[in-house]
Amino acid sequence: MEGEKIIEPIIVGGFTVRVEDASSALQYQQLCGSWLGYRNLIQISTTYDKQTQAQTLVHETLHAINAVYLESREVDEATVAAMAQGWFQVIIDNPHLIKKIWSMAEAEREGNGVKDTEGVGEKD
Ligand SMILES: [Zn+2]
Repeated sequence: MEGEKIIEPIIVGGFTVRVEDASSALQYQQLCGSWLGYRNLIQISTTYDKQTQAQTLVHETLHAINAVYLESREVDEATVAAMAQGWFQVIIDNPHLIKKIWSMAEAEREGNGVKDTEGVGEKD
């Protein structure tokens, strides 16, 4: 439904980004999604299939990353689209990679970043 949140807000570089359904507005513009930096908002059209919505979510998140980490540097849309497509496919094909990255970062946050390399760093 229009304006309804699609997922819980995501955090990009410390900024809270809402993800909402904006099917009508996007359909009018013939877009699958949109990044509205001034509102920290990702809009997704739910009129497309779930895979397209997921790809769009990755795509718009890359725009958000560009806004936060590259100060909205001018990037060409084809590059964003290709990077998003690549990331989407890597995420889908490698759930173990995402879990590993997450668990490594989590271990670091918990102060035992050497958890996976048995014996290393245990004695100091
Ligand atoms: Zn784009």
